[in-house]
Amino acid sequence: MGIYPPPLERLIAQLVRLPGIGQKSAARLGLHILRSDRSLADALARCLVEVKDQIRICSVCCNLTDTDPCAICTNEARANGSLCIVEGPGDQLAIEESGVFKGKYHVLHGVLAPLDGIGPDDIKIPELLKRLNREVYSEVILATNPTAEGEATAAYLTKQFAEKAPDLKVTRIALGVPLGGDLKYMDRMTIDHAMKRRIPV
Ligand code: ZN
Repeated sequence: MGIYPPPLERLIAQLVRLPGIGQKSAARLGLHILRSDRSLADALARCLVEVKDQIRICSVCCNLTDTDPCAICTNEARANGSLCIVEGPGDQLAIEESGVFKGKYHVLHGVLAPLDGIGPDDIKIPELLKRLNREVYSEVILATNPTAEGEATAAYLTKQFAEKAPDLKVTRIALGVPLGGDLKYMDRMTIDHAMKRRIPV
């Protein structure tokens, strides 16, 4: 038996299920919703249902979308021959927000992690390889994150491309010192990458 009336206890119990929300935060959010205008609760309830009903995975690029294919896949201006491969929708959004990339994407929804039992068929690699059979690209950019799993996924894909499409130009996003960074605070691996992948100026 909680300290709040049962409907509020039920709301708090659901909010606690969200990532990063503990009991205290959930109670604060629940009380805030209760005290707020009725329109907040109505809009929140509607959006929660809409996001589950309307957002799906694009059948081409596997990104989250409310239309299938998504707006980028159907945009002819984006068919510039470049395909950028990312781990998740958040990575795709970060690149898109930067405005520097004008090609198309493929979202893997994860990375290879053999120790956790995640193999190529558990993420959107089969969809990617099928896609490369029917679509023509002059370059694929491996933009998985520079983690052990992200590097392993990039290496696996590089091998697959070499076997299945040997003429395809495959590039990897640059790794090294971030803008505004300070060398004396960099870890050894970052400096190692930055030195090995240095570019002429
Ligand atoms: Zn798409």
